Amino acid sequence: SRKKSAELFEKAKAYFPGGVNSPVRAFKSVYGTPLFIERGDQAHLWDADGNEFIDYCCSWGPLILGHNNAKIREAVQEQLSKGLSFGAPTELENHLAELILNNNKKIEKIRFVSSGTEAVMSAIRLARGYTKRDKIVKFEGCYHGHSDSLLVKAGSGLVTFGETSSAGVPKAFADETIVIALNDKEALEKVFADFKDQIAAVIIEGVPANNGLLIQDKDYIHFLRDITKENGSLLIFDEVITGFRLGFEGASKYYDIQPDILTYGKIIGGGMPVGAYGASKEIMGCISPDGAVYQAGTLSGNPVAMAAGIAALSILAAPGFYEQLEATTQKFVEEIRAYIQEKNYVVNITTIGSIFWFAFSENDKIQRADEIDPASMEKYKVMHRELLNRGIYFGPSGYEVGFISAAHTEDDLNQTLVAI
Ligand code: PLP
Repeated sequence: SRKKSAELFEKAKAYFPGGVNSPVRAFKSVYGTPLFIERGDQAHLWDADGNEFIDYCCSWGPLILGHNNAKIREAVQEQLSKGLSFGAPTELENHLAELILNNNKKIEKIRFVSSGTEAVMSAIRLARGYTKRDKIVKFEGCYHGHSDSLLVKAGSGLVTFGETSSAGVPKAFADETIVIALNDKEALEKVFADFKDQIAAVIIEGVPANNGLLIQDKDYIHFLRDITKENGSLLIFDEVITGFRLGFEGASKYYDIQPDILTYGKIIGGGMPVGAYGASKEIMGCISPDGAVYQAGTLSGNPVAMAAGIAALSILAAPGFYEQLEATTQKFVEEIRAYIQEKNYVVNITTIGSIFWFAFSENDKIQRADEIDPASMEKYKVMHRELLNRGIYFGPSGYEVGFISAAHTEDDLNQTLVAI
């Protein structure tokens, strides 16, 4: 039964638009009544009614070590016992920065903020300050957070089933953002021809993973690198999902690319609210108090969040961590793929690192959510609902990517296969 969740949902409707405060509000839960989470442990979640689920959402990606990781829990408890004091530098910030910079050679300096959205907005402000230009180019289907200035019309960051909206976007912001199709070299060449000296930066998700898992050709990513450099613009790699997920150096390593500014979130805080952005010493030199670009956040560097991040990344930095996680993912994906195909669901599975996505098309040709025929989409939603009823949680929207965590075990795989 999901009676208590239904009651909580009814109650929440009085407080929150759409009846929920967590990110599921942006998606409309495929389950009708969203999951009201009570607690989590390793790869398992329990809802308010006491139902147990194997979790492939990992809180939208951050929980790469699963729920209730002992090291993170202890670090947070220890920090809480020292008093929740912040607003001046702490050793914890140094420690987390050191861990990251020692393992990620794509950036030379870093700044911590409190979310992925904040990291992206800071990166954009930095790009504008550094280049003294205003326009930003982004790609259809890429999501960079919930801040107004990137939510422009065509193919906006909205990741619902193909819906886009420009409502509420101040005109000045919308005018400064140019949205073009992914993987269209000519479109980008035209943008640079039309707005030559006005483009501060091109921003792309490391691996676009908010409208399906759209792994890009290396050749295309290197084209982005070259064209931005030739035109004096910066390349911002938004690694909020891929950073620390594919490895410390995220998608930049996968494509063997050196972007100008990189943004991080999700995993970096071990489940607590931490975002970050980083770049070369030269570019980061523009930031206050040394440089002119102001950036400060009351909660940035919050010690409890820093402690959680240090605990998490210390585990991720151990030799073999990512290799092991990727091997587990491959095993899960191969077995689940076979079962799903046997059951004649419409999907294929695309994967990179420990991220996977149920694609609709055959022959691995990726299809975006808004291009899928309604009948297939309905079938897909039904599959998600059925799986939830059998204790498998793939995330609230029914369309996002899934994640394997280091806490997923062989038992979880077997239970999943039985449920499917
Ligand atoms: N950038 C990307 C690629 C994301 O996937 C997200 C969130 O999912 C964000 C930015 C925004 O991060 P946050 O939700 O932490 O503000």
